[in-house]
Amino acid sequence: MGIVVATGENTEFGKIAKLMRETRQITTPLMRKIAAFTRFLIIAVLALATINFVAQVIFDYPLVYSFLASVSLAVAAIPEMLPAILAAILALAAIAMAKRNALIRKLPAAETLGVATVICSDKTGTLTKNQMTVVRIYAGGKEYKVSGVGYEPDGEFIFEGYSINPANAHPDLLGTLNAGFQCNDASLVSEREKTDIIGDPTEGALLVSAAKAGISQRSKRLDEIPFESEQQYMATLNGGQDENYIYIKGSPERVLRMCHSQLTEGHTGALKRSEVLAEADAMASEALRVLGIAYKPVPKTQSSLSSEDLAGLTFLGLQGMIDPPREEAIEAVRKSKRAGIRPVMITGDHAQTALAIARQLGITGEGVVTGEELARMSDDELYETVDRVSVFARVAPEHKLRITQQLQRRGQITAVTGDGVNDAPALKAADIGIAMGITGTEVSKEAADMVLADDNFASIVNAVEEGRHAWKNLEKAILYTLPTNGGQALLVMGAVLLAPIVVLFSLRLPLEPIQILWVNLFDSVFLTMPLMMEPKEKGLLDAKPRSPKEKIANRLFFIRVGLVSVAMAGTGFIVFYYFGSPAVSGPVVNELLLTQAQTAALMSVVMVHIGFIFTARSTYDSAFTFSPFTNKWILWGVGITLVINLAIAYLPFLNSLFRTAPFPAEWWLLLIFALFPGFLIVEMEKLVRKRLKKN
Ligand code: ADP
Ligand code: MG
Repeated sequence: MGIVVATGENTEFGKIAKLMRETRQITTPLMRKIAAFTRFLIIAVLALATINFVAQVIFDYPLVYSFLASVSLAVAAIPEMLPAILAAILALAAIAMAKRNALIRKLPAAETLGVATVICSDKTGTLTKNQMTVVRIYAGGKEYKVSGVGYEPDGEFIFEGYSINPANAHPDLLGTLNAGFQCNDASLVSEREKTDIIGDPTEGALLVSAAKAGISQRSKRLDEIPFESEQQYMATLNGGQDENYIYIKGSPERVLRMCHSQLTEGHTGALKRSEVLAEADAMASEALRVLGIAYKPVPKTQSSLSSEDLAGLTFLGLQGMIDPPREEAIEAVRKSKRAGIRPVMITGDHAQTALAIARQLGITGEGVVTGEELARMSDDELYETVDRVSVFARVAPEHKLRITQQLQRRGQITAVTGDGVNDAPALKAADIGIAMGITGTEVSKEAADMVLADDNFASIVNAVEEGRHAWKNLEKAILYTLPTNGGQALLVMGAVLLAPIVVLFSLRLPLEPIQILWVNLFDSVFLTMPLMMEPKEKGLLDAKPRSPKEKIANRLFFIRVGLVSVAMAGTGFIVFYYFGSPAVSGPVVNELLLTQAQTAALMSVVMVHIGFIFTARSTYDSAFTFSPFTNKWILWGVGITLVINLAIAYLPFLNSLFRTAPFPAEWWLLLIFALFPGFLIVEMEKLVRKRLKKN
């Protein structure tokens, strides 16, 4: 009989399901930045277009022409390809990450990883190999060593320096091994002379240690209490000859709490609790994962098991297993520290084991905090603690959530791993929730932004590198596109505003509206897009994470926009004026010559674009420090740009469409030099920046 206390969404299961359904509005630092940047751009562009329109009207340009010019100017200045480029860069990053075993489920997370400042990782399986081997056993007050490697069931039991047979006068050892064998859901499989396990590696290790003692008979299981992280134990009820038996295994503290006696020399005697705990601690501080094992005979009539039955147990022994750190994880921890990302270990394992493994991995910090201590802390105390402590042990999943929240309160961008159903809230709360592909539950994967195909910490760090690469390329695209947009805007506006001084410009703009639109189009397709294919720069993981607060429209942005705008507008201006001025010096305005001058101005603007792209391939480094051939896409883009623009200048049917006219070939002798202003001015800016940084 039962009492229904909650249904549907109010049940524990329902709560998690509800949490999963609430698709959180994905706002990553990048999304917020882009939003702010877009707002800024829209206001700036509208203001410029309005000023341009008003100025044109004041200076007597035809109304329709002024309107067209102002609209095309606005269209040109708005980087409408940016969202597409952003999506493409993120998709490329996701592909690169997938190749390195990090599967992105929510696209923006690909970039967010690049700004992560803390990675909270599980220990078992992620930082360690999860290939457990029992090497120490404590039973009946005696210490045994177990030889053998991996899951091969060949090995010996060594007591006081001698190899012994557990079946021979070591009943406590045999009992410990047997209980570990019965209370177990894993199985051993041999394939081509190689033994492997199916199931939980912790349990697999217990099977192997039992197999080394020749235990292979599974007794009938009548009932069970499955393992749960929060409970830290698993228990089974097995049928026997005259009696049935409860077998339990779990964390030593938890199991000992249910025991009141101990098996010594085959007899049930007094429980030496402190001695057992000291032994467990000693094993743990050698980085061993320790399981406590106990049993209890119950009447043959008992056929079901509940947690109430788990009292008055008889303690059998401890099994200590090694779970060596992954070699890649040691390297990855080093890399992440150099990259300014703090690795934090959050584990359900024993404090000493956690600390010992953390030391082996190079995870530093102040001591270790256990779940029990954590539960007593207020949020403010935890807020202080998370800054100093990098190892959390014996934690329950809800502690993981609290740790994440406090780290976030400190302004940290957190990547958090998890595998269990109950990890889902923490994965959701984290800036980047990372689920385990192999051992993870479906619920945790559902909640995550990213799934690790190989459960490996090193894959997270690799993904961070890809995330930073994505940002670099986005930054390059922005620092290329907007300065060139600015250049065109300044060219047109400059002509308008200077109209009263230079008569020529009151007749025609250096670029026709259709030409402004055209430059804008080929620029985004053939030049900006190839930029996102830029290969990875060296040393992406050598710098601190970018501050998530830094705006896109920062100082560097304005300097580049300013410099390139001046270079481009100046070039277009000079070309147009130089070739066009004879058209208005005679009694009749030479319209054809003016059109030719406009065409030359258009070509010069194209040349400035082409020159600039070669230095835009790096944000801070000079174009002379890397080969111009490492990004084939750019070369293709430049080639196509040249061919199409020459066609526009010289093919009659394109002439009428784009309002251009072929001009004398010798003009190119001057136009060629238009490759340099944009390129050189940015190269110089980079040089100055380097000099200033050195001093
Ligand atoms: P972790 O895997 O990080 O150690 P868990 O929450 O999975 O964290 O495990 C918590 C503790 O429960 C372990 O340290 C161990 O003592 C115990 N434990 C782990 N797996 C099992 C299992 N299959 N059966 C019984 N106890 C287990
Ligand atoms: Mg586990």
